[in-house]
Amino acid sequence: MDINFTEDQLAFRDLAKSFADENFAPFANEWDQKTIFPVDALRKAAELGFGAIYCSDQYGGTGLGRLDAATIFEQLATGCPSTTAYISIHNMVAWMVDTYGSDDLRKKFIPKLATMQSFGAYCLTEPSAGSDAASGKTTAVKDGDHYIINGSKAFISGAGEADVYLVMLKTGNVADGAKAMSAVLIEKGTKGLSFGAKEHKMGWNSQPTAEVVFDNVRVPISNLLGQEGQGFKIAMAGLDGGRVNIAACSLGGAQMAIKQAADYMQEREQFGKKLSDFQALQFKLADMLTNLKASRLMVYNAANSIDTNSPDKTENCAMAKRFTTDMCFNIVDEALQIHGGYGYMKEYGIERVLRDLRVHRILEGTNEIMRVIISRKAIKKTTKASLFI
Ligand SMILES: Cc1cc2nc3c(=O)[nH]c(=O)nc-3n(C[C@H](O)[C@H](O)[C@H](O)COP(=O)(O)OP(=O)(O)OC[C@H]3O[C@@H](n4cnc5c(N)ncnc54)[C@H](O)[C@@H]3O)c2cc1C
Repeated sequence: MDINFTEDQLAFRDLAKSFADENFAPFANEWDQKTIFPVDALRKAAELGFGAIYCSDQYGGTGLGRLDAATIFEQLATGCPSTTAYISIHNMVAWMVDTYGSDDLRKKFIPKLATMQSFGAYCLTEPSAGSDAASGKTTAVKDGDHYIINGSKAFISGAGEADVYLVMLKTGNVADGAKAMSAVLIEKGTKGLSFGAKEHKMGWNSQPTAEVVFDNVRVPISNLLGQEGQGFKIAMAGLDGGRVNIAACSLGGAQMAIKQAADYMQEREQFGKKLSDFQALQFKLADMLTNLKASRLMVYNAANSIDTNSPDKTENCAMAKRFTTDMCFNIVDEALQIHGGYGYMKEYGIERVLRDLRVHRILEGTNEIMRVIISRKAIKKTTKASLFI
């Protein structure tokens, strides 16, 4: 079943597409090759309300839902999946501040996050704590009305460029795992906060990835989101939406690649015929379109299940992320194949999208961890019947 979008939803979707066509697509290859973080283009996107899409409008958020956000990320990503993926992480951070922050924190941070005058970063992974995120060793020890923070975070998107770091750390015993985790905001410029060198990556080159290091960083206790011990829950709530957003970015990349492949098939001739005359390629295109549609429906369904606070939302998000990021990577690979040797050349842009989409199967929880989440309830026999129907 296709979703019956409202006129407003379609208007935002179309706005995102025309913005991406004009402001992302023509520059994406250059941003990739020169590893440019496109600050001006990001702030221009924020002018359309894309900096805090699903934050309440009280302090400048756009006040839309997750389904709206998914369609916006999908269309933005047709222009540049890497830049859009950063916008999606920034949105996840803004939502976490808006939802779990005190009124003072919301008043202070949301207006600048919404306009992207401030950029956000989500800091969970550590050098020795990836999939097992609860085993992180970064600590915050109380000193009067401050925390003293020590440790480090690995592979942080936006690190160095971002202004607001949402850091999951241990305010209790490290050995207590998730129960000891809290979420604290740290501003760039705070003494003792530093960054590693920019990682050299396969893709996602329009956004920096680096280590974030805390050396006796002193932060007011009032920068805590929620209560002490709630950090893991807050981190996972952010990631439900983050996974749908990343999946939506994969949809956009695949959409762009299919369109380009279909156009190319009608231009390129071999054996005296257009490529589009070969049934083997027609069938390939048909399968790509079918897989894109199936992925899209999963993403929209997962986004909708956050909007409606479905008891299955976490599993739905994990399923959509697992299925869509695998499927869309394969779609882009097939689009590259349809281009033959030209697909392998940088000027066509498809190899960039393939490199960008590869990491969607790894981050915000690997696709193996998505399978752990999906099967967990069924194995524990606590599954809501709806998962089996
Ligand atoms: C470009 C990039 C940007 C990133 N941005 C951020 C960011 O902004 N913030 C952030 O916090 N993190 C970020 N990450 C980190 C990312 O979330 C982690 O890389 C990811 O969660 C996997 O952790 P890991 O790399 O330590 O792999 P590991 O956890 O060491 O996993 C290695 C392999 O083992 C598998 N595996 C592990 N446990 C299990 C299990 N129980 N069952 C089956 N298989 C398992 C994994 O699926 C994987 O294939 C980013 C990573 C990259 C590459």
